[in-house]
This record gives sequence, C-alpha cells and structure tokens, in this order.
Amino acid sequence: MEKNNTKTQNLFVSEEEKTLNWDEIQNSFKKTFGNEVYTSWLQKITLVKEYNDYLILGVPTRFFRDWIVSRYLDKILEQVKSFKLSLNRIEFKIIEENRNNSNLVKIDEINKITEIKDSILNYNRLNSNLSFNNFIEGKSNEIALSYSKKVCEHISRYNPLYICGGVGLGKTHLLNAIGLELQDENNVMFISAERFMYHFIKSIKKNDMVNFKDFFRKSSVFIIDDIQFIRGKESLQEEFFHTFNSLMDKGSQIIISSDRTPMKLDRVQERIKSRLAGGLVVDIDSPDLELKIEIIKKKIEDIQNQFKESIKLSEEVINFIANESKTNIRELVGILNRIIAFSRVHNKDLTVTECKSILKDVFSQIKVITVDKIQNVVSNYFNISLNEMLSQRRSRPLARPRQIAMYLAKKMTTRSLPEIGRRFANRDHTTVIHAVKTITRLSEQDDEMKKSLSQIRSLLLEQ
Ligand code: ADP
Ligand code: MG
Repeated sequence: MEKNNTKTQNLFVSEEEKTLNWDEIQNSFKKTFGNEVYTSWLQKITLVKEYNDYLILGVPTRFFRDWIVSRYLDKILEQVKSFKLSLNRIEFKIIEENRNNSNLVKIDEINKITEIKDSILNYNRLNSNLSFNNFIEGKSNEIALSYSKKVCEHISRYNPLYICGGVGLGKTHLLNAIGLELQDENNVMFISAERFMYHFIKSIKKNDMVNFKDFFRKSSVFIIDDIQFIRGKESLQEEFFHTFNSLMDKGSQIIISSDRTPMKLDRVQERIKSRLAGGLVVDIDSPDLELKIEIIKKKIEDIQNQFKESIKLSEEVINFIANESKTNIRELVGILNRIIAFSRVHNKDLTVTECKSILKDVFSQIKVITVDKIQNVVSNYFNISLNEMLSQRRSRPLARPRQIAMYLAKKMTTRSLPEIGRRFANRDHTTVIHAVKTITRLSEQDDEMKKSLSQIRSLLLEQ
C-alpha cells in the first residue's frame, strides 16, 4: 500500500486551467487531416470556451456539426488532447454565420443523402484482431467467455446476454469476437451505445426515424457496446426500448456490454433495466497474476508471428510487467507495447531496472488527474449529482462517495489537505483526514469498497 502511494504521488501531476492556443491546434488539424478536409470543415471551427475537462467549439450550422461529429470527432478529440491532457469531451455550439454564404449550403445539399448510411456503416466494423482465438481464458473471465461462445451456438437462448465489468477488462474484445463468429450467417450489427444515441438523436431531428428503425431492426444479431451511455431523455429511451423489444420479439440475439450491472444504470427507466437484466448477466473481474502473465506471453507470440521477429523478454521482466499493471488489461497491453517498442529500437534484452525507467517516462507524460475530474467521476459512478456530493447532507449514500472522492484526491493528486477541503465546499482539512482514514480502513476490510475503488481508479486512468 505504502509503495503504491508514493508511486501514484509521483505519477499524477495536478494541473488546473490551462489556455489552449487555437491557432496552433488548427495547424495541427491541417497536418493530420490534410488540406482538403481542413479547408472544407475544420478551418471553420472556433474555440468558444475552455473548461478543465471539456471544450465548447463553435460551428456554423447544425449539419456542419453533425458531419464533423460523425466523421472526425474521435480524431479531433485525440488531437486536442495532445495539447490538453485533462480533456475528455468536446461539445459544439452553433454560431450562425451570415446567411449569404451560399457555398456552404451547396455542400450541405450534396452530402446530405449518403451521410446517414455512411456514418452508421463506418462504425459497424468488426475488428478481425479481436477474436475468440486470441482471447485468453482466466478465472476472472471464464464465465463471460463460456456464455459468449454458447450464444454463438444457440442464438437467442440467452437473450439478452449482458456482459459487465470495469474498464479495459475485455468486454469489447468479447463482443467483437461474438460478432466475428456470427457474421457469416447472420446480419450482425455492432455499434457503441454512444454512436447509437447519436444517430438516434439525429434521425429524430431530421424526421427520419422510419429509416433509422428499419436499419437497426434488420439485424438478427444486435451487439451494443457500453450501454451505460444510453441515458437521459425519456423519449429517446422510449425509442430505444421499442427497437430493443421488436428485435427480441422477432428472435434476434442481443448482446450488451456495460461497466455496471443493469440495475445500477444511471438515469435509465426501471422497466428497461429489468428487461436488460431479464436475460443472462455475466461479470468480468480484474485479472489475476496468472492471467496477466499468459496474456503477455500470448501477445509476444502474436507479434513474433506477425512480424517474423524474435522478441526476448526474460521471465523476470514479464513478471515485472504483470505486477506493474494494477488496474486492467488495456493498461497491461499498453505497458507491454512500450517495452517491446523500446527493446526493438535498442535491439537488446531489457533488465527490470531499464523497464522501470521506461515506464516512469510513460506515466509522467500521460496521466493528469485533477480534483475536478475525481469529483465528476466519483459522483457519476455513484449516480449522484455533483451538488449532492458536495452538499452538507450527511446521509451515507452521499457521505461515502464524498469521502471516497476526498480520499482519491489525496492519493492521486499533489493537492494538500486544506486545498482539498476547500474544493469540497470549503470543508476543514480535518474532515479530509477523517475521510482518508475511514476509506483506508474500509478498503482493507471491505471487498465491495476495494472493488469500487479499483473501478473508479480505472475510470480515472482511462480518460
Ligand atoms: P473493455 O471493452 O472492457 O474496456 P477491451 O475489450 O477493449 O476492454 O480490452 C482492452 C484490451 O485488452 C484489448 O486490447 C483486448 O484485446 C485486451 N484483452 C482483454 N482481455 C483479454 C484477454 N482475456 N485475452 C487477450 N486480450 C485481452
Ligand atoms: Mg470497451
């Protein structure tokens, strides 16, 4: 525990507001996207407001926004993130331009027609690298794996199949593997919930629900990733529910993943939750050391086969990597890739000490955790509002998350106790000390607390 603390203290540099240089970012857009895309679209984006973890960008029209969101958003986010690490979201605001810009209107008209279909298809691609063949079985995932395979043998026997587990534990990999297995003989639809929602909203606004429904209802296997993002507005949930029901009625198999169980879904109607829970719910847990080591060995083998090169990592180094990744498999794979890349460049066998120094650089570059971010992630995790979490109310469902957020702020940022107290609605530093003590004690005694902390840490590190 002690060792871990000092590590995290060093790794997470606290960073608050920073101002972006928009011209510099525009230049980087030009380089990344190429001149054509840049001048037609990205050049017209303006920076409206900058927050610690998100940006509001200005665009001239609604259509312009939809176009950008459906094609370039991921890349834009990634790009801006390289200038501002704490960023995790971008929102768009429509800023009306003078209306005699007829050029733009023309582009709108031409592209409108193919747009819906293209952008849905863009996000419906299965990744052939994520199959059952290279999914390693361990204690933490054996049940999820076994039912994923069973679903492929007996379509709609377990319906829906709902796979839940923390970030980076293999949910998307399993969903993808199911899709690959079934795609030859079925009409497989694979989409993230966020994408699904996006098209949903767009179709409603364009009065095009008929096409939208048809498009999705054609599938005989409907796979939806990260369903926790389906939330909010009643009317949207209602539509989702209809699509879901009509697929079930016609015997289509539905497979769902989420970071939490159906009943813990945030702002989702009860009847949707119970329908989701009505099939089979399986859980993926954090990997044990044995599974981590096996995954490392398998990845090394894959790379050797694929690139016809020999990668020599000693047992000691492999053990080190397995121990180093505390939270999830995605992180494990990331660490392994860094080390392999390094050993390739230097063309030599690495020692554990060398690995340590490689990882030190990696971590100090990429992780920035702030008190704001912790408060947001924790309140989201427990389905309470930020206001409630910061309020003076003492009921346990609010007090516990508040204490956890204080505890993580102490452990994961460089902020002092009085500073943390101030950020929690001006509380005294003794309150923070009490919170840290309480959560430390509970994390040693209580498995549920241990699990929550580990999941929240993963969420924080993921962003
Ligand atoms: P999630 O969707 O749960 O966040 P992913 O499916 O994206 O996680 O998994 C993260 C990474 O870890 C991916 O590269 C995936 O291939 C790999 N991975 C996860 N579990 C396994 C496993 N059991 N065997 C091999 N690779 C795995
Ligand atoms: Mg995933």
